[in-house]
Amino acid sequence: AKESGRGQVLFYEPVMDEKIERRRQLGAAMNGALERNEFHLLFQPIFCLTSGDIASCEALLRWDSPQFGAVAPGEFIPIAEENGLIVPIGGWVLHQACQVASGWASTATIAVNLSPVQLRTPELAVTVVSALQASGLPAKRLTLEVTETVLLDDVERSLAALTTLNQIDVCTTLDDFGTGYSSLSYLTQFPFQTLKIDRSFVMDLEHNPASIAIVQTIVELAAKLGMRTVAEGVETPAQLDQLRRTRCDAVQGYLLAKPMPANEVLALFTAACPA
Ligand code: C2E
Ligand code: CA
Ligand code: CA
Ligand code: CA
Repeated sequence: AKESGRGQVLFYEPVMDEKIERRRQLGAAMNGALERNEFHLLFQPIFCLTSGDIASCEALLRWDSPQFGAVAPGEFIPIAEENGLIVPIGGWVLHQACQVASGWASTATIAVNLSPVQLRTPELAVTVVSALQASGLPAKRLTLEVTETVLLDDVERSLAALTTLNQIDVCTTLDDFGTGYSSLSYLTQFPFQTLKIDRSFVMDLEHNPASIAIVQTIVELAAKLGMRTVAEGVETPAQLDQLRRTRCDAVQGYLLAKPMPANEVLALFTAACPA
């Protein structure tokens, strides 16, 4: 226990120890997890608001540890970034995601989340090209999602990596737009084809007029800069309605479809376009 400034006693130490211990154990369990096939991907459709078609699917990583059960990506990805395992794991995600998307009877793109650690790795382009070649997926059908907080850490390296990806025809999405240390200069500084509007704004759409104004402004700005917009975390018909009115290009969220296994997405596409 420790005295805080106001004389309260905070019993934080045992809790801290538990957190550190769980982190250590998860890190240890992650060693060899890739080789033991403990990871798999789910795919969440992203719908075009004008056509209603599936424009894209986002690949979302899952880890089923024999020891810990299902561990949320929000918990294990930061650990993998710290111990460097995100590089081989992220490479596996790219290969797997491209392989799955190459089997779709659709031109829908596959959206893959990129860790900042991967973005700063010199072999990123080689990994991406190898995933495309192994699967036969055209580069145009791959989009890589990057969160904006990352870019500021190393502007030159981020810019070089994104430019290289664009040169080989891979698309890039600025994820979670509007959160973090966002600066509008990002939009002119970095080459993105798509802006993904963060769930925090979408959540607020029904009750907070300020969020409507923000989403509207983001959509208009993106359009002027030649970028597409996707709204994430759409959970209610009222939110969907509002996004339609603001002329957002595409939507993603539990209201429309939850993340699903590869075979279910495959069936969605097959059902949509009977051969
Ligand atoms: P994200 O990139 O913002 O992904 C969207 C998250 O929102 C996913 O959580 C998704 O399941 C969830 N989601 C989708 N629709 C809704 C909705 O309507 N309501 C709510 N409340 N949530 C919704 P998930 O799968 O737990 O992933 C969490 C984060 O983990 C992702 O956030 C992403 O940052 C990271 N992540 C997931 N897969 C990968 C990966 O392969 N590589 C890397 N580097 N990061 C990943
Ligand atoms: Ca994402
Ligand atoms: Ca996101
Ligand atoms: Ca988000």
